Amino acid sequence: MRVCLRCAAEIRAENWHCEACGHAPALIDGFPAFAPQLAVDNDGYDDRYFEELFQLESGNYWFRARNALLLWALQRYFPAARDYLEIGCGTGYVLAGVAAGRLDLRLHASEISSRGLPFAASRVPQATLLQMDARAIPFSAHFDIIGMFDVLEHIEDDRGVLAQAFRALRPGGGLIVTVPQHRFLWSRYDEHAHHVRRYGGAEIAEKITGAGFKIMMSTSFVSLLLPLMLLSRRARPAPVKDYDVLAELRVGALTNGLLAAVLACERMLIRCGMRFPAGGSRLLIAQRSA
Ligand SMILES: [Zn+2]
Repeated sequence: MRVCLRCAAEIRAENWHCEACGHAPALIDGFPAFAPQLAVDNDGYDDRYFEELFQLESGNYWFRARNALLLWALQRYFPAARDYLEIGCGTGYVLAGVAAGRLDLRLHASEISSRGLPFAASRVPQATLLQMDARAIPFSAHFDIIGMFDVLEHIEDDRGVLAQAFRALRPGGGLIVTVPQHRFLWSRYDEHAHHVRRYGGAEIAEKITGAGFKIMMSTSFVSLLLPLMLLSRRARPAPVKDYDVLAELRVGALTNGLLAAVLACERMLIRCGMRFPAGGSRLLIAQRSA
């Protein structure tokens, strides 16, 4: 059910108006805004990147590979799910992939920065989009799946967000999370991308189980490119001023194709049951117990 963030009563009205206390969320560009004070100014992400990301994502090996992996995981672990929420949808590239691959899902997506939502709406007009702080989610036992794809590393209170996701899921519902991995990969890139941390594999697993979930699957990915990532992050003579976090993603067509092929190979191994101990990112699938 949908719940009022002010008084915790159930919301029945389509427009989120609370009958119990009279509260109604603000509207920003037509989207219900549950944390309007953070919609433009928040320290979790630099929304100047949205415009270029929107152009770049659909052709880039990394975003394409992550989408393919996530779609496989959704189908493999949650074939019967109906209600889906993506937290931190950015410009909606993953959401568009899910919309195309899973016509059976009713799609919700949220973003703290209201500037991402019009991009997401243009890609997936049928999705219900919300401006929201993941530390205060206005749903209880509502969703069959919640996805957070490279979102938790931007948030200081990641445990609080996982607890909120637990509450918003129905008993038996599933959580899909990707995070950047390995403290030894920490570089200026992470600082400029507004990352609070890169995760250790045990750390993210402990935080997810600590919120009450049972882990169904965990693997590193971008594993075969780990040596390249190390070289790129260590060797890049990064200027402190005008640092460009998207530079690593702007690769030529040949390199893009090669890296895509390596990640396709890796994905095939994961589908066959291989689990990688190390890699640039980690994928975890967990379930809210009944
Ligand atoms: Zn209320």
